[in-house]
Formats: sequence, C-alpha cells, structure tokens
Amino acid sequence: MEPLYRALCGEDQECLREARETPRFLSELDQIARGLEIHVDRPGQYAVESVDVERLRREAEGRGVPRQLVDYVVRRALYFRFGSGGVGGRCKNCGDPASLIVLRREDLGIYERHRPYARCICGSEWEFELWRCPNCGASGRDSFDVYIYGGVHIYSCRKCGYRFGVVEDRPDLHTTHFYIHMLRWTLPNPRPWQ
Ligand SMILES: [Zn+2]
Ligand SMILES: [Zn+2]
Repeated sequence: MEPLYRALCGEDQECLREARETPRFLSELDQIARGLEIHVDRPGQYAVESVDVERLRREAEGRGVPRQLVDYVVRRALYFRFGSGGVGGRCKNCGDPASLIVLRREDLGIYERHRPYARCICGSEWEFELWRCPNCGASGRDSFDVYIYGGVHIYSCRKCGYRFGVVEDRPDLHTTHFYIHMLRWTLPNPRPWQ
C-alpha cells in the first residue's frame, strides 16, 4: 500500500498517518453497510436503480456526511445483500464498469496461469479479460498507457480515457481497491511503462 499512500500524500506525515488508518475506517463502514436496510421497490437491470440513493444522500448530508461516503456504503450494502456478478460487462449491483482487474493464480497441474476478474468497488466480481477496457471495450495492449505504483498498475484507455487498476490478488485487496477507485483520476502520471 505504501507506494499508493505516497502517491497521494507525498511526504505529508499527517496525511500518511490517516492513510494508514484506512483499513480500520473501511471495516467500520462495512459494519454500517451490513446494518443498512435496503428497500428494493422495483426490479431494475441493476440493483442500485431500485434504491432511492438521492434520499439517503440528502439525509446523510444533513448530518454532515459527504455523499461520496453514502454512495460507497450503499454499494457495499448492495453487495452484502446480493453478492457478486456482472450484467452486460457492468456490476450487477451498481451498474458501473469495473475499476479494478484482479489477477488470480490458477494451478493447472503442469503450469500456472493468471485468470483476470473484473471487480467493482462494492466487492462484486465477474470474469473478464486482461487488456480490455471495462468502460468502452477497447482491447489490446496498444489501447492503454500503463502507470506503475509498486505492485499496482493503472491502465488508462487511449480510446475513452477511462482509468482502472490491475493487481495480483492480495490480502489487502479491498483496501487497495478503495485507494485505486478514489485515486485513479488524481494520480499524477509518472513515465509510461510502455
Ligand atoms: Zn458494484
Ligand atoms: Zn475505454
């Protein structure tokens, strides 16, 4: 996580200290999400379409809670209730394209390979392809600029500009994803890798 924290904070020690608290902060938000009652009024293509997110945002903003946090907790609540899956290449809960590709090692006896899964910030995953833009579908290595922060790669689609992370599966996957999801638009561009 450290390269990501440093990309965000530079040498600002206060910022770094807060960044290192993120896992605890996220598990507290998960407790709230698990307790949130989600009323699904009408069936939609994506679960979030059935939730009155605007009302929840207004209620939370009245108590000083930023709407980004509300959106995040609602997404987690949908995931805890409905689980994983993609519809038409997007998250079945949130209706958004993946913001992370997770590479999972698969042991096939004679050799190993990495199988790519698309992941939404809510936690939902579905099978996907590497070198394919989750937003516009552009594919092939030539379609992307790649930036590297430690073990985290950020791909930037040359066709639509969409940014997403690519990582190998890791114990702190969700915290890593949270950072990538938040930071992918603000991360400075280091030298492209290719
Ligand atoms: Zn989702
Ligand atoms: Zn694209």
